[in-house]
Amino acid sequence: MTTTEHYDVLVIGSGEAGKYLAWTLSKDGHRTALVERRMVGGSCPNVACLPSKNIIHSAKVASFAARAAAFGIRADTVGVEMPSVQQRKRAMVEDLVRVHLARYQASGVHLIMGAARFVAPRTVTIALRDGGTRTVAGERVILSVGTRAAIPGVPGLREARPMTHVEALDLERVPDHLVVVGGGYVGLELAQAARRFGSQVTVIERGEQLARREDPDVAAALLELFRHENIDVLLNAVVRDVEGHSGEHVRLRVETPNGLHVIEATDVLVAAGRTPNTNDIGLELAGIELDARGYIVVNDRLETTAHGVWAVGDCAGSPQFTHAAFDDFRVVHDTLKGGSRTTRDRLVPFCMFTDPELARVGVNESEARARGIDYRLATMPMSAVLRTRTLSEPRGFMKMLIDTGSDRILGFTVFGAEASELMATVQTAMLGQLPFTVLRDALFTHPTAAEGLTVLLANVATATGSAGQA
Ligand SMILES: Cc1cc2nc3c(=O)[nH]c(=O)nc-3n(C[C@H](O)[C@H](O)[C@H](O)COP(=O)(O)OP(=O)(O)OC[C@H]3O[C@@H](n4cnc5c(N)ncnc54)[C@H](O)[C@@H]3O)c2cc1C
Repeated sequence: MTTTEHYDVLVIGSGEAGKYLAWTLSKDGHRTALVERRMVGGSCPNVACLPSKNIIHSAKVASFAARAAAFGIRADTVGVEMPSVQQRKRAMVEDLVRVHLARYQASGVHLIMGAARFVAPRTVTIALRDGGTRTVAGERVILSVGTRAAIPGVPGLREARPMTHVEALDLERVPDHLVVVGGGYVGLELAQAARRFGSQVTVIERGEQLARREDPDVAAALLELFRHENIDVLLNAVVRDVEGHSGEHVRLRVETPNGLHVIEATDVLVAAGRTPNTNDIGLELAGIELDARGYIVVNDRLETTAHGVWAVGDCAGSPQFTHAAFDDFRVVHDTLKGGSRTTRDRLVPFCMFTDPELARVGVNESEARARGIDYRLATMPMSAVLRTRTLSEPRGFMKMLIDTGSDRILGFTVFGAEASELMATVQTAMLGQLPFTVLRDALFTHPTAAEGLTVLLANVATATGSAGQA
């Protein structure tokens, strides 16, 4: 007969919010266990955000080296050594895992490596990684089990053993010809990196534009960047079937409005959305309901349909970013301490780490129109930002939506050099509910990207009609 171990708090999955809740609640004095089947620290440091940005940075160095002459630097022999690229990334990941293990130890959380499955309300059995099982129950249970790459049901695709981001970020070689299925941020970041390492790259997107949530002019600018880097992009393109094996030879039949394309390539990367890790873990035995897409149903305090059980991060349908998951941690921690923080009306920024970056906070024009929001638009090419001249990176533009009836900033999109940091400046103003005039009249350091905001807004009149001074 197996005995059940009891904890005050049981966290399943070491996703961003789960691990912070475990560390914090344990330090608050609650006996806490966290179960993780594979990745100490979850996806972000192991197979997602941080490794991808590490690899992308190596690709940027390759791109600089390839055009070194334009900067007056001689780099006569430029070569890409993927094993060394991987070594730099792996050293970073190993270090991050060490940092995580130290935090588990310092906080007193019992880290149990194994796969958890519910057998009763708030009770799981754990198939331990080192063999054997344990049964563990929590007074409070937190699900932080994340998502995985979805593999579309295209005939032959699964049999072709396509890469997901996990394998693509671990490649020790440069594919001759990589086909990327999916034109969202994961696909685009990795497509550009592969191209810069020397692969021929084809991106297949079923929608009519890249980055489907962005404004058409933003998507068009991204497309222009990709075409400039000699990346083939097929839009409105549906993969009909796949033959062969990724890593050797693959043949994709792709239907587009211009007819059927047959693409012969060496490798396929699937970046076509995410699937929550919620199937086959016995949630039905614990009274935890899922929505039609398999995400855990939660309210705005991230409480599930089962008493004493919360879900956080990607698996709870939160915006699929590490910073959103981190905020989920704050919402649940606050609730447990009797506070009133919710997920309602959060300002969730995002950045696509292409080079240059695409960053946005708040609404864009498409959303504003769809929601019937009236706005004034301030827009400007990045070439008008003097900083970009010093970098020889004048590509892109920025645009700000300002409320028609007031001077409130509704949203800001920037595609260009230093976009993520520039966006954070506007985000701060939005959080402080500052009128755009505060940015317009601010004294920013010269020459920084933020200085460009004063130029962007110089001629925008206020709601009451007064103009700036530039
Ligand atoms: C390639 C890529 C790049 C990305 N880049 C960025 C970026 O730059 N910025 C950004 O903000 N976001 C980025 N994201 C998204 C980001 O990684 C996630 O949104 C974020 O990590 C939140 O995930 P999570 O905390 O919900 O779950 P995860 O971090 O996925 O953690 C879930 C954990 O639960 C474990 N688990 C699952 N089931 C069980 C079980 N039954 N028992 C035990 N353990 C289990 C898993 O092994 C995993 O470790 C990227 C994603 C990808 C794929």
